[in-house]
Amino acid sequence: MMEKSSISFLETNYNDIKSRFDAAVKKSGRKDGEVILLAATKTVAPEIINEAIKLGITHIGENRVQEFLSKNDEVTKNVTRHFIGHLQTNKVKDIVGKVSMIESVHSLKLAREIGKCSEKIGTVTDVLIEINIGGEESKSGFSPDEIDAAIDEMSAIRGIRIRGLMCIPPICEKSEQVKEYFNRMRKLFVDIGLKKRDNVTMEFLSMGMSSDFEDAIECGSNLVRVGTALFGKRN
Ligand SMILES: *Cc1c(COP(=O)(O)O)cnc(C)c1O
Repeated sequence: MMEKSSISFLETNYNDIKSRFDAAVKKSGRKDGEVILLAATKTVAPEIINEAIKLGITHIGENRVQEFLSKNDEVTKNVTRHFIGHLQTNKVKDIVGKVSMIESVHSLKLAREIGKCSEKIGTVTDVLIEINIGGEESKSGFSPDEIDAAIDEMSAIRGIRIRGLMCIPPICEKSEQVKEYFNRMRKLFVDIGLKKRDNVTMEFLSMGMSSDFEDAIECGSNLVRVGTALFGKRN
């Protein structure tokens, strides 16, 4: 059973994050509902996730296939599930059809596998392309230089629909620094959107986490992924 204290802790966090989120959305000139607050639920128990859904969370994201599968049945049905973590090609078949979006497509090989597995079960999977916006060795994703050619190739893959971009920028001390990365993402997102390609639309710009979601919204994000600020520090 869940402790009463962790529920009220969650509620306090949610109310705080939600009011900061709403204020940032308003400040950026957008309306209620135009920006998605996704709860990043790695390491969080299903009963806590369900409490977050009761509070108003509509979208959740998991990082690991194994963890996603082990929790999936216990999580309330009416929530939109995204996969946000590093996905290995050999695990794709286990989640296709079970998530509404894979946010973290970091290679052509992965995109092809998602397409193949989707076709096999007669579905089309919505995906976002992960951009390594800081050019970091430690992170996966396409570099801004190669993205255009990569999208040309990906647009021909049946079984996927490319609906936007996502990134995890380098850790920055100052708001001004992280906003530079977010602004570069925004520019890529707009530029890619101008080119008309089959199966490619730029609708979702997924960026911003606990420490920087307000900056991200200011720079044009319409999908923020918040974990720690909602659920507390992960062990
Ligand atoms: C964990 C995670 C988040 C949330 O990070 P917090 O700093 O805990 O808010 C967002 N996106 C991805 C891809 C993550 O893995």
